[in-house]
Amino acid sequence: MVELGEEALKNFIRMIGLYNSKAKNIIASSKILIEKFNSVVPDNLEDLQSLPGVGRKSANVILNSIFEKNTIGVDTHVFRVSNRVGLCQTKNVLATEMELEKKIPDRFKSYAHHWLVLHGRYICKAKKPLCSQCIINGICQYENKT
Ligand code: SF4
Repeated sequence: MVELGEEALKNFIRMIGLYNSKAKNIIASSKILIEKFNSVVPDNLEDLQSLPGVGRKSANVILNSIFEKNTIGVDTHVFRVSNRVGLCQTKNVLATEMELEKKIPDRFKSYAHHWLVLHGRYICKAKKPLCSQCIINGICQYENKT
């Protein structure tokens, strides 16, 4: 990545949102990984969050998807869907993460984040959830179903 450089990297990731700042963070993170972590991606929350552009959600996704740890990354979709369906009743993403890690059985944890994100992105949309197309309509506890 460092040899490739920021400008060349942008050409590969141009189709995703915020690619300018993402390219910058990827190059900066790559340099730090080489200098501080012996070119090995760390497997703990604290070190991952020390990398540019890596917040708690991304760190948890990396721990879950790459290192197979039982963590749940909570973004706006996971937060919204979890609260609507009744998985939790929380006021912020950190509390949601704690609740979901307690409640979701370990055997589902490798996919739970992705399922909740995709459900929120395509079905349980923020402004107008598509409740008539939702396969969990029957068990969802959201009181303003459409
Ligand atoms: S029934 Fe509606 S509110 Fe409930 S999860 Fe499905 S889309 Fe979301």
